[in-house]
Amino acid sequence: MLPKTADIVIIGGGCMGASTAYYLAERGAGKIVLLEREKFLGMGSTGRNAGGVRYQFSTEVNIRLSLFSLDVLAHFEELFGISAGYRPLGYLFLLTTPAEVAAFKANVELQHRVGVPWVRYLEPTEIARLAPLVNLDGVIGGTFCPRDGLADPNSVTQGFAKGARRRGAQIETETTVTGIKTESGRVSAVVTNRGEIATRTVVNCAGPWAAQIGKLVGLDIPIVPVRRQFFTTDALPQVPRDHVFTIEFATSFYFHPEGAGLLVGMSNPDEKPGDTYAIDEEFHLKTLERALYRLPLLEHARVASQLAGLYEVTPDAHPILAPARALPGLYIAAGFSGHGFQHSPATGKVMSELILDGAAKSVDISMLDLERFAEGRLIHEANVV
Ligand SMILES: Cc1cc2nc3c(=O)[nH]c(=O)nc-3n(C[C@H](O)[C@H](O)[C@H](O)COP(=O)(O)OP(=O)(O)OC[C@H]3O[C@@H](n4cnc5c(N)ncnc54)[C@H](O)[C@@H]3O)c2cc1C
Repeated sequence: MLPKTADIVIIGGGCMGASTAYYLAERGAGKIVLLEREKFLGMGSTGRNAGGVRYQFSTEVNIRLSLFSLDVLAHFEELFGISAGYRPLGYLFLLTTPAEVAAFKANVELQHRVGVPWVRYLEPTEIARLAPLVNLDGVIGGTFCPRDGLADPNSVTQGFAKGARRRGAQIETETTVTGIKTESGRVSAVVTNRGEIATRTVVNCAGPWAAQIGKLVGLDIPIVPVRRQFFTTDALPQVPRDHVFTIEFATSFYFHPEGAGLLVGMSNPDEKPGDTYAIDEEFHLKTLERALYRLPLLEHARVASQLAGLYEVTPDAHPILAPARALPGLYIAAGFSGHGFQHSPATGKVMSELILDGAAKSVDISMLDLERFAEGRLIHEANVV
């Protein structure tokens, strides 16, 4: 049964909502209720992502979110009794212009300074040894971090949800939030298709739909859904199962082992914001073309499945992790712009600190406020795939 009151209501049962519920429950934050409109958790972007986890970002805050999060993912089984499926295959960025080389060399310096000593700049001969199956025509350098890799979004979401429930949080699926009520200028209740919950605190973890939740209270949240698609292949025994996660930075073409085959994707720079999971066959062909160029042995493989999901894109490719100053009681944890899954552990942790202590201690996220967009304080992330 839906409770009549709650201390904190979380909207959205993806990896962010589940992690936030867990870290709040771990702190004994009172009655916590997580609401998800679908029948199961993780049916939004969380269930449609490529599972990549990496330290290789271009801003200090993203690197710090990775440092916290990948440590949790590596120890997930000890903490949650279920493996996160963390596989440190490494990420290899292939660079094809002098400008990219300069930017990535600067990134490596930043990553070293912030606490990621494992990342290295590679010359083409070293890249050829690491990825001999890849056609390196035009590649003039690269960066490699052996502790980047893969993890399983579904296991992570379920692990957080199980941990949250065990600590008393209530998770209600098939429950759609249709309104947020206010009283004396602050949040007072959440309205759903199954009734109303009186609460003074709401966390918007609605991923690509976070702006719609903002609209319920007349708040402009600059997050747009943008379709991204990938495909998997049938078995490709020629490619080792621990092949490095490879990304051609200029086109964002990437591939990594998946099951007995590969998962292959590329971002369409011309994709307009929109809320569709339909496959764009024309762009699929472009991805195939690029894939055959960079990994010629793909001509021996067949496409096994195609999937589209939604990035939740902000103007500076960083999330909003903050209270909404215009409406006390409303918090936002959304807008991860295509690399959120890997930051879900840190997100739950810092949101719990923000809500319970007034500021985050584990990672300084003070620059990730909502108001930065209106006030022109954007912080650009260059390593968006
Ligand atoms: C193709 C693709 C590849 C990706 N690859 C990677 C990757 O390699 N690595 C990585 O880290 N990230 C990746 N991402 C990004 C990652 O998937 C997202 O950043 C992350 O899943 C966001 O999680 P979330 O919980 O915020 O959103 P979601 O998982 O979308 O969860 C939001 C939930 O809110 C629910 N909801 C919405 N409105 C309401 C409402 N009114 N009432 C109740 N519930 C509501 C939705 O049903 C949904 O379940 C990828 C994304 C895509 C699309």
